Parts: sequence; structure tokens; C-alpha cells
Amino acid sequence: LERLATRVDKLNMAGAMAASVAHEIRNPLTTVCGYLQIMAREADLHKYEKRLVLMLEELNRANTIISEYLLLAKDKRVELKNHCLNTLINKISPLIEADAANFNVAVSLRLQELPTLALDENEIRQLILNLVRNGLEAMPRGGILVIGTSFEKKEVVLWVQDQGTGMPDDILQNLGTPFLTTKDTGTGLGLPICYRIATRHHATINVKTGNQGTTFLIHFSQSHFVA
Ligand code: ADP
Ligand code: MG
Repeated sequence: LERLATRVDKLNMAGAMAASVAHEIRNPLTTVCGYLQIMAREADLHKYEKRLVLMLEELNRANTIISEYLLLAKDKRVELKNHCLNTLINKISPLIEADAANFNVAVSLRLQELPTLALDENEIRQLILNLVRNGLEAMPRGGILVIGTSFEKKEVVLWVQDQGTGMPDDILQNLGTPFLTTKDTGTGLGLPICYRIATRHHATINVKTGNQGTTFLIHFSQSHFVA
């Protein structure tokens, strides 16, 4: 319980920080980004192209970090509407395919017929994209990523399975702790956002991991089914 309390505190802290700092950082970033784009067009490309591209990439990365902080800061209510989870997955699959292609990963969808659920479309989309991203980042040498849904024993399950490196026990035990990352350029905010979104949908997250890869399973309880 103590660990959980610390997590919640850290999450709130991250949120408060985000609210005060993120906007202020975003404005100068946008300015620099704009001038760099102009320079990239006008400069002696052979001489500067690589450096300009690198600078733009770094700025985009900073932008991603700020966006993740802002997501944590967002204190808006969930907007639950009737959705077919499979339809939401199909809708973002082109995005996922494009992301996966950069990692030499093939995406396989295994979607079973499901009851309608009460879901916040934006949040579920974010949840899936974060899990997919982690799966891809765990497979630097490529492989297959499976996104599946199932409906069994009055429970809807969404799962994302990779063939990646798996994770050691100390990481597994602490998943969802803000800023926990094993990556050089990680934020450690992807999973905390996933856990928050799951909680807001009364869903639970389970993780299976080993040297064959990792599977994240999101269990939606009956209370979120729409009759
Ligand atoms: P980030 O991706 O920025 O590191 P996350 O909160 O998304 O932050 O994930 C936290 C950590 O959990 C990762 O750094 C990684 O060590 C571990 N992790 C999450 N998903 C996976 C996965 N599919 N396979 C292996 N490790 C994972
Ligand atoms: Mg991540």
C-alpha cells in the first residue's frame, strides 16, 4: 500500500509539474523548430542537412516528452461512449503498421467478436499505442507483434504480445512507477499513463513476461459492458 501511495504522489507531482512547465517550454521549442525548418530549406544542404535533421529530431523528441507530461496533467473526465473495441483497433491499425515498419515488425490482429463496451476512445487509443510502442522498442531485431481481443468467462480481454527481450523481475514488480525506464531515451511515463487509463475504465492490467517476449493483458469487467 505504501508503494502504491508513493506512486500516486509521484503521478500527481508529475501532473502538477506538467501543468506549470510544459506550456512555457513548448513556445520556445515551436519558435526554434520553425526557424530550423526555414534554414533547412535555405541552407547549403550538403553542408548542414544532417545536423539540421538531427536538431529537428531532437526537438520532436522534446515535444513528445512534453505531450506525455501534459497527458498526465490532464484532469479531464473520461468520456465513456458505446464502442466496439475491435473497431477502435482497426481504426488505428494503419498508424500501428507504420510505426511497426520502422522496427521491421509485422503486426497481426486477432480480434474475436465482443460485446459493446463503454470506452473513452482517445484514452483507449493512447493505451494501445503506448503498449504497442513498448512492444516494438523491445524488438530491435524485428519480429511479430500481436494485438488480440477475446471474450471469455464474461470478461473482455485486450492483449498486446511481443517477441521481445522480456523484462527482469525488479522492473516487472515496479511497472507503472512514473519515470521508471531502462531506455536511454525513455520517459518512463508510457505505462503510468496506461495504468491510469485502465483504472479510469475499471480495467486491470496483467503482464506475462519471459525470454520469449512479453504480453500485456487488459481485463475489462462486466460493469463496462453495454447491454
Ligand atoms: P519508457 O517506454 O519510456 O521506458 P514505459 O512506462 O512505457 O516507459 O515503460 C517502462 C519500462 O518498462 C521500460 O523502460 C521497459 O524497461 C519496461 N517495459 C515496458 N514494456 C515492455 C515490453 N513490452 N517489453 C520489455 N520491457 C518493457
Ligand atoms: Mg514506453
